[in-house]
Amino acid sequence: MINALTIQEVAIICKGKLIADSPESVVDQVAIDSRQTLSASNCLFVAMKGAKANGVDFIPELIQKGVRNFIIPTTYSPTFERGNFIQVDDPRAALQDLAAALRNRFEGPVIGITGSNGKTIVKEWLGQLLSQEFSVAKSPKSYNSQVGVPLSVFEIKSFHQVAILEAGISKAGEMASLERIIRPDLGILTNIGSAHDAGFSDRLNKLREKLSLFQDSKFLIYCKDQGIVSKEVEYLFPAEKLISWSDQPGADYTRAIKFKEEENRILLMKKDLTTLTFRTQLRDAASLENIIHAIVAALTLGLSAQKIQQGLDQLRPVDMRLTLKAGLKDCILIDDTYNHDLAGLRVALDFMKQQRPKRRKILILSDFLQQGKPEWIYPEAAQLIQNHQLDLILGVGTELSQLAESGVQNLYTWERTEDLLAHLREFQLENDLILITGARPFGLEKVVQQLQQRVHGTTLEINLNALTHNFNFYKRLLKEETKVMVMVKAFAYGGGAPEIANHIQTMGADYLAVAFTDEGVALRQQGIHLPIMVLNPSEESFASFLEYQLEPVVFSPEFFENLANWTNTHSETMKIHLDLDTGMHRLGFEKQHLEELKKLIHENQQLKITSIFTHLAAADESEEINYTIQQLQDFEQMTKEILPLLPQKPLLHALNSAGIVAFPDFQFDMVRLGIGLYGVEVTGNYSSDLLPVSQLKTTVSQVKTLPAGATVGYSRRGKLPKGGKIATLPIGYADGYDRRFSNGKGYVLIHGKKAPVIGNVCMDMVMVDVSDIEVEAGDEAIIYGAEIPLAPLAKEIGTIPYELLTHISSRVKRIYFLD
Ligand SMILES: *Cc1c(COP(=O)(O)O)cnc(C)c1O
Repeated sequence: MINALTIQEVAIICKGKLIADSPESVVDQVAIDSRQTLSASNCLFVAMKGAKANGVDFIPELIQKGVRNFIIPTTYSPTFERGNFIQVDDPRAALQDLAAALRNRFEGPVIGITGSNGKTIVKEWLGQLLSQEFSVAKSPKSYNSQVGVPLSVFEIKSFHQVAILEAGISKAGEMASLERIIRPDLGILTNIGSAHDAGFSDRLNKLREKLSLFQDSKFLIYCKDQGIVSKEVEYLFPAEKLISWSDQPGADYTRAIKFKEEENRILLMKKDLTTLTFRTQLRDAASLENIIHAIVAALTLGLSAQKIQQGLDQLRPVDMRLTLKAGLKDCILIDDTYNHDLAGLRVALDFMKQQRPKRRKILILSDFLQQGKPEWIYPEAAQLIQNHQLDLILGVGTELSQLAESGVQNLYTWERTEDLLAHLREFQLENDLILITGARPFGLEKVVQQLQQRVHGTTLEINLNALTHNFNFYKRLLKEETKVMVMVKAFAYGGGAPEIANHIQTMGADYLAVAFTDEGVALRQQGIHLPIMVLNPSEESFASFLEYQLEPVVFSPEFFENLANWTNTHSETMKIHLDLDTGMHRLGFEKQHLEELKKLIHENQQLKITSIFTHLAAADESEEINYTIQQLQDFEQMTKEILPLLPQKPLLHALNSAGIVAFPDFQFDMVRLGIGLYGVEVTGNYSSDLLPVSQLKTTVSQVKTLPAGATVGYSRRGKLPKGGKIATLPIGYADGYDRRFSNGKGYVLIHGKKAPVIGNVCMDMVMVDVSDIEVEAGDEAIIYGAEIPLAPLAKEIGTIPYELLTHISSRVKRIYFLD
């Protein structure tokens, strides 16, 4: 926080009622998640109600940990002997009030960025350019929401000279609260596109709302080439406030781009005809748009063209996301090598904390460059590191040794990255969790390369934030008390079971379910502790249920009897789940088994019936609504007969993803969320509310130009009567790229353009027609993802998204990221 506040001051700012035993206590840190590391005594915990959890539920635990300062809703009455509590009507609004007040105390310029695409990248790039001359605070990752913006403001420290904050809105009415907090001196509107259209009456209204962020800013940077933007901006704001750029003459900066083999040149001509020239490696249109916003902003803040060029030389169009990768020797790597400031380090360390337990927690980092005076930075960093209890810290640079002066132990530093690389083996990294984060010039991505498993050209990227978004979407459709079991069978629908299960655990799901015992055993071995239901357990695995605390589904009288006998002979009790067949006709007790089932239950109290469920056969088919209702009624009927026999009421559940959407009145005690979490809304009613979770991509191996009449691939099925150009991709049906995509049924995206499959899909490769696309070996090809949605693709070859997802082979590396 920019400066510390007494709890009394906080109460005044938030217009809350203070119930305090020590009103002079000072806070300098804010947390909204009980798991965030807190230096307990001077932390302020804001108890908000989220989709997954209610902050007030964590207060007792936090008091135990030594936290003393809380903002709470008026509905909550604290009953603790110690502690300072501020009661407010709406804790989220209080968080925003506090952020607005702290923003006011910051005297340097604040840059506010909004728009549909590119906000985060413009923020990052501008931050990199400016940090050559200023100490820059910027929102970590894409913290741009109603809560993310306040949290970003709390990251501004007194030594920062410039702050860059990004604002994102998804529905009408949200910008007002963000504007009140950010109050940018300099604004950047990136562009306006289709994202979140659904939350607004039309695109113009969305634009107007976004522009309201800039109502009081001194300057606004925008691109004149989007007609709707320039018209509205020039209508709303006085000309002297506007700084425009365009590919056409008439703007403050006219852009021209010269593409060259090695590197491109960007020319920016000012109205007085002076021209600035910049060299860049960036090639694609979106990056070239984003970088101009950053350059124009840097110029406006007085950075010289020469300094900007130095900054550009360091920029790479690399991934700036926090990614989780499989390392050699069972290590897990958290790659954050793009970014290196305190706010980013805090996010990365929190992410690290949420991972599955490993042997050691290791941090590899570099000096913090140009973040402000070392004597400001390193004590803060040291505190952060100490709070996270790391086992080993390896550093590169000349300043990092200062961490030791602030008490950081197990710290080894070298001057150059090469020296670190040379000594890495001595630390015998194995089964460790390793966070790698550093400033660009140190090139710590080399460390990642050395430590990661070799990645075959094809990767499946899983966006953990999208997973959270989808989870919260379903949570909002549910009653507060309804529990959620998440289906992670089949390698979590192809996504990779342990990482996804771990993330689901941190999101606050109540239960996991797998298909087979082995899947459950693997999750336990990877440190997953949520209760796990096994849908189709085999009789050989009875001992494993106990050893790994797995809870089998019992679906037939025979199975019940066998399990009962086994538990009797071993004098054990076991939690089990009953599957009732009401019309799926797959597994489960039918009505005719009820009497027998009741008898078995009565005689076998050692089997603890934890839940009873049924599975819907056609929840996603609106024409089968009567069948589904009948199933649900039968389920109610059958459970009524069983419940009186049970000492404790079990959880009842019936709905899968489609059922949650279509039959909200039948939530019972729990739902079983599957495909929806992974981004596919099978009823089709809410598709735009879900975010795609996975992207399958690969890189072009070779490009060939073929003469008229040439054929491509096995059996000469691919025909090029007029000749053309093809690209070969290293993905085939053995990787899960379905052979039915052969001969134009499927397509991939290269540089945003469709390249249809030509010829038959091979086992490990496929050829695509790129006659109309500029392509070279090494370029990226998207197989599935946001722009290639699964549902229509599946339909094209007569299957369903479930099959495409679960077929992606285990040899395709999974990479997990937070964006
Ligand atoms: C797979 C499965 C689900 C989840 O179904 P989705 O359609 O993916 O939501 C729920 N219950 C059972 C018994 C399942 O096998």
